[in-house]
Amino acid sequence: MNLILMGAPGAGKGTQAEVISAREGIPAISTGQILRNAIKTGTQLGLSAKSYIDAGALVPDETVIGIVKEYLESDDCKNGFILDGFPRSIAQAKALKELGVKIDAVLTIEVSDERIVKRMSGRRVCECGASYHTEFLPPVKEGICDKCGKALYIRNDDKPETVLSRLTTYHKTTEPLIEFYRNEGILVEVEGQEKVEDTTELVKKALKEAVK
Ligand code: ADP
Ligand code: ZN
Repeated sequence: MNLILMGAPGAGKGTQAEVISAREGIPAISTGQILRNAIKTGTQLGLSAKSYIDAGALVPDETVIGIVKEYLESDDCKNGFILDGFPRSIAQAKALKELGVKIDAVLTIEVSDERIVKRMSGRRVCECGASYHTEFLPPVKEGICDKCGKALYIRNDDKPETVLSRLTTYHKTTEPLIEFYRNEGILVEVEGQEKVEDTTELVKKALKEAVK
């Protein structure tokens, strides 16, 4: 199964990507996580991406297209993959199409801006890709990742001001992709729920319907 996950920042793409990844045994590729890890380790990629991310803007298309291309060509992806956070612009969607990979479904998780802003304040993430919420999805041991035992951290771009910029970027540049993929006949829409398990259930059903 080759899948794209879409949705506003904080809609729960990353969380659902992890769930599907574990269930289907296919890798989840999060461009945001790749970029954050690059910033942490101080690579050239990290250095060039940091100012965009901190401002709540998109990293240039060429940069992320290059990253995704490399991943999709690796052996890990030969039985399928989940793209979390890519494509995020029409240019990226077109570049993906040009790579010639067939996409089975594009799942979009709908959550109102108001709820997004409330959610972001409690978000905690791990460098392994797992994400938690202090209230809605707490780890077993406070501040520690259930999956890998590393310390959780608060994303630099989860500050309220930056969240608003990210939402603006989403509506302006990323949301048009919904129409793009609806026209391709592969769009699957799910209403994001308050409880993670409820969203997981809806996603599971919707994907079963869509990918047969
Ligand atoms: P969220 O969906 O919660 O905003 P992500 O981890 O997916 O978080 O992305 C964080 C940031 O990384 C984005 O705000 C953007 O700056 C950058 N980024 C991630 N994916 C892309 C992409 N496909 N194109 C451009 N920038 C990206
Ligand atoms: Zn972890």
